[in-house]
Amino acid sequence: MSKELAQLLFPNVDKTIEYYEDLYPERNLDKKAKVTRLGPSPTGFIHLGNLYGALVDERIAHLNDGTMLLRIEDTDDKRKVEGSEELIIRSLKFFGIEFDEGVSLDGEKGIYGPYRQSDRKEIYQTAAKYLTEKGFTYPSFVSEEEMAIIREEQEKAGVNTGYYGKWATDRNLSLEEIRANLDAGKPWTLRLKSGGDPEVAMKFKDGIRGEINVRQNNLDVVILKQNGIPTYHFAHVVDDHFMRVTDVVRGEEWLSTLPIHLELFFLMGWTRPNYNHTAHLMKVEDDKKRKLSKRKDPELSLEYYMKDGYFPEAVTEYLMTLMNSNYEEWRMKNPDKSYREFAFKTKNMSSSGALFDLNKLNDISKDVLVKMSEDQILDFMMAWSEKFDKDANQLLVKYRDDLSRLLAIGRSGKKPRKDLVNCSQIMDFVSYYFDEDFKYVDNLPERVSKEDARVILRAYIDTYNQDDTNEAWFEKVKTITDTNGFTSNNKAFKNEPELYKGNITDVSTAIRVAVVGRQQSPDLWSIQQVMGRDRVLARIEKYLETLA
Ligand code: GLU
Repeated sequence: MSKELAQLLFPNVDKTIEYYEDLYPERNLDKKAKVTRLGPSPTGFIHLGNLYGALVDERIAHLNDGTMLLRIEDTDDKRKVEGSEELIIRSLKFFGIEFDEGVSLDGEKGIYGPYRQSDRKEIYQTAAKYLTEKGFTYPSFVSEEEMAIIREEQEKAGVNTGYYGKWATDRNLSLEEIRANLDAGKPWTLRLKSGGDPEVAMKFKDGIRGEINVRQNNLDVVILKQNGIPTYHFAHVVDDHFMRVTDVVRGEEWLSTLPIHLELFFLMGWTRPNYNHTAHLMKVEDDKKRKLSKRKDPELSLEYYMKDGYFPEAVTEYLMTLMNSNYEEWRMKNPDKSYREFAFKTKNMSSSGALFDLNKLNDISKDVLVKMSEDQILDFMMAWSEKFDKDANQLLVKYRDDLSRLLAIGRSGKKPRKDLVNCSQIMDFVSYYFDEDFKYVDNLPERVSKEDARVILRAYIDTYNQDDTNEAWFEKVKTITDTNGFTSNNKAFKNEPELYKGNITDVSTAIRVAVVGRQQSPDLWSIQQVMGRDRVLARIEKYLETLA
């Protein structure tokens, strides 16, 4: 009866499973080389979890000369959003992830395609027909309303919900009954005729989680929907088999349906891939850990990082630390190596939630940026600003050379400044330099009165010489300090503070506030060297006006 049923359900399928086995031959790869894939759905949103998974895919594949492909999982028409594919490809590329095979911006690459699920209907139908011939499927005519009733009864009875066992009445339809239903034009789905027993536990080795117990599946899940399009379960099995994927990396939300996938692979007679179920990205909020959420956490979206101008190197570096806990130690020993040289291992990944922390990303970003040249930083900022911040772009174009010198201040030597995080933050960090949006952000230090500031700043203007060396400049600041009731002798100030109005830090901070509008900045003399005499003095005059 199975053969007849298969013919009845799939009269137009003329290909065989062997045809596709030949069409998509085993890959000729080294034993160690892995084939991974990313299967995003084109929903118009690409998030950190996608990048995290993609990076795992990328590392698994490329660490051993394997292949990583991009498959677009677009079987759900309702969720499809125009432009998603481009968004996915461009965003991942931005973060250094490029696919060897599959959907790309200039067509599909590779012989295992088509790589969009919507173009693979014939393949799924052939596989479904094959499974039907073997007696492992049946058409089911239950409507959604009927399913809802079954569910209600199951809940009342306190048993597992789903279509299985005695609830799965369509399992027993005779060929005649099926034919009659089809003739009557009743819509149908194709269900798996599960042979599993959930009482049976099997040992299963996950690449990330190690050995875990998995119960057999007994659900007669839908494998083809009413429109003949496969569900995730079936598409996953068929695609990963025929694309000859060796290692599946996917989120832990798929663990619960893994028994279905294992049964499907078994019934198809195919070797299953290795599975790596990644932990959710979590964050701590109010002392509690929770999953990053699309609705609540803007930082889940990759766009967030692109808009703020995070350097992709920093984001990948951070993700690597999340991926393998021994990465940081390796990085300390190998400060100048590419992350690609690290021996990434899935078994060293956390299985209980990867804690995502923006502050930590920012710290890592500082470490990454301190190793970049000013030109590298500015080139990236230029590209960022063209896309995301037109005002910043104008300033960057106008002041590029000055900025290069400004950013260099204090960034070399044994203890370089580490205060650059991302483009937006850098723009803010150097904003003191632009007359365009210059603001006096900070007040005078507490121990410097307006009165004193006026005297100090006048003296500063009178003795200012652009050609002074840093030392000569500092001597002058000292003199101004000591001749105006402050002291440059810190020890003396510590011992008898009541004898002085304040110390040299107070005086130099007052000058700093006048020149750059802030109490803190990189070395002031160096900034003044870039700014030039006229601008420095104009700033101070302007500040004096506010003190009048
Ligand atoms: N399209 C699935 C998702 O977006 C892919 C899961 C998988 O990688 O198998 O969750």
